[in-house]
Amino acid sequence: MQQAILISKDQINLLSKHAKEASPNESCAILFGKIEKDHFRVKDVFLTKNIENSPVTFTISNDELIKGYQEAEKRQLDVVGIFHSHPDSEAYPSVTDQKFMEINPVPWVIFSNKTEQFRAYVFESKIIPFVLSVQ
Ligand SMILES: [Zn+2]
Repeated sequence: MQQAILISKDQINLLSKHAKEASPNESCAILFGKIEKDHFRVKDVFLTKNIENSPVTFTISNDELIKGYQEAEKRQLDVVGIFHSHPDSEAYPSVTDQKFMEINPVPWVIFSNKTEQFRAYVFESKIIPFVLSVQ
């Protein structure tokens, strides 16, 4: 069972830059990588556009989702996480996030522009914090 999601400092920097550029709206990205025995390892970050242009929700277009999955398959990678940012609140899943986390049971990584913190969560019958290890 995977106990953590491993991400590099460069990937973290790329995601926080993406979040700051999208502010005051939420930003989003798909995390590609490898599902290993006891962890998920992020290999690449696929930055996406929040088509809602909203400070409180995000949606990735179907076109970008398809493109993302095709790109992952081409590189023989899996989708190991969903990233989005909270421009003006803590890095904790909103009610809307929780609903979508149930449908997408991969780790969800949230960055708060407000606290500049990254947090990860996963849905396992309820929302539980997940270890995000920056390496
Ligand atoms: Zn959210």
